[in-house]
Amino acid sequence: PRRSMALAEQAKRVAAEFDFCDDAVGKAVKEFIREMDEGLEKEGTELSQIPTYVTAVPNGTEKGLYMAVDLGGTNFRVCSIQLHGNTTFSLTQSKVAIPHELMVAKTSKELFSFLAKQIEAFLKLHHEDHYVGTVKRRAGGDENQQEEIFNLGFTFSFPVHQIGINKGMLMRWTKGFDIDDAVGKDVCALLQQEIDELHLPVKVAALVNDTVGTLMARSYTSAGKTGTLLGAIFGTGTNGAYVEKLDKVSKLTKDKDAGEYDKSTGEMIVNTEWGSFDNSLRTLPNNPYDIELDKNSVNPGIQMFEKRVSGMFLGELLRLALLKLVKDPSVPLFTDENSASNDVHSTTQIHDSSPIWKQWGIDTSFLSVCAGDHSPGLRMLRQTLDRDYDISAVSAEDAEAVREIAAAIGRRAARLAAVAIAGIVINTGRLGKSSATATTAQKAGVEPQRGDVDTDQSDEIDIGVDGSLVEFYPKFEEYMREALRAVPEIGAEGERRVRIGIAKDGSGVGAALIALVAGRVE
Ligand code: ADP
Repeated sequence: PRRSMALAEQAKRVAAEFDFCDDAVGKAVKEFIREMDEGLEKEGTELSQIPTYVTAVPNGTEKGLYMAVDLGGTNFRVCSIQLHGNTTFSLTQSKVAIPHELMVAKTSKELFSFLAKQIEAFLKLHHEDHYVGTVKRRAGGDENQQEEIFNLGFTFSFPVHQIGINKGMLMRWTKGFDIDDAVGKDVCALLQQEIDELHLPVKVAALVNDTVGTLMARSYTSAGKTGTLLGAIFGTGTNGAYVEKLDKVSKLTKDKDAGEYDKSTGEMIVNTEWGSFDNSLRTLPNNPYDIELDKNSVNPGIQMFEKRVSGMFLGELLRLALLKLVKDPSVPLFTDENSASNDVHSTTQIHDSSPIWKQWGIDTSFLSVCAGDHSPGLRMLRQTLDRDYDISAVSAEDAEAVREIAAAIGRRAARLAAVAIAGIVINTGRLGKSSATATTAQKAGVEPQRGDVDTDQSDEIDIGVDGSLVEFYPKFEEYMREALRAVPEIGAEGERRVRIGIAKDGSGVGAALIALVAGRVE
């Protein structure tokens, strides 16, 4: 019992290193707002605040047939989307792995002609009626015999300097891609050129960032009266895009390369690139595990917010924190001699093969297992340690220590996520927009119901989210809301007005919607 008390105390101490108190949340929100404004004015700031040239969000009544493609990593996805105009849609999709030699090809033509061929195969298979003229045109037949043109949204998840709704220069490759001659070129033009060589009836109408796709997809399917304010991703990485007042995006008028855009809505969606919020650590927490993770990363000092929030990193933070206890000579974790005395294999063992010894050895999904295990003695958690992490016969006390530390890391991530959400909700002034009916209801003492679609929506601040972390980590939203309530400018009343919904298929339906909006402008 002495050991277990000492271990419990140690675990509490490590967990407490991940505390991010209400006061700290408030300070970080102020910094987020400062960086938002700075990023809207000039280049080279911590929040990049990239203008996307998308100037309207959908309301669910949009209709039509569109195409979307997504080049983001290992796969290339092609899909067509029928928007039914009643907040619903149908989606046909195909997916193909990108051959590695094309990721590092000598010329960008090799990659982009491969992409165009996938689009052709998709059309042949699913949209024969759109494809018929292609063959004739290719044979030198009647060029005027045109079938309907498909407008296509191109989700391209690499850093680009966007200068128009379908124009953006590749700044650099990431994620294992490396094709020199593409850098500095307009990726939409590269794709269009290959599409044209195949005489396909397809126009690259929009260049899409995945967060903007999430925002658009959510706005279409939720059909709120005011439209969705923010699309946010909490997956491998984290990022958000939101609806900003056009006159606040002042750097757009200073960009000599900036192309034309529609000014009629007075708004533009801005891609924050918030993964790099507060890289200089003015307000972000920075404990010994954060420091070590950053030091051993490929990009020290960069993406500091992301390194505390997203799926790629939370498992590693847990691994580093657990190792601290494993190596603690006073009460080493996972060395319980007589754990569970009724268990035959009573001695806990961390096998040499355990991934816990290796960088990135623990996956963030393990945090979800820990947070979701309500069984007596944390059976699931212990089973997972045994099966996936080669740590066998873990005692209940040790399991509890793991659970506590994992929970602290998950909770801190969600509270940090709330910083970004709060900053955007406050800085866009959405809290001030409260409808007359809602005010009357509040005066009459009627509690607005959270998440209920049938209640008056005009008072709601709608947020679309996507990514495994927010989707599968139990209580991620609850922890986020707890932190939102703690921000003085939001409080319990403001938090209640925030509606959060999962937006699936951002790179499909979202890209289609951007292609649609782009088509309207011309
Ligand atoms: P991506 O962001 O790459 O499009 P996902 O949204 O699926 O894809 O995010 C993948 C990330 O989510 C990985 O870092 C993974 O560790 C993490 N992850 C996967 N499953 C879970 C889970 N059940 N709970 C928490 N995190 C998860």
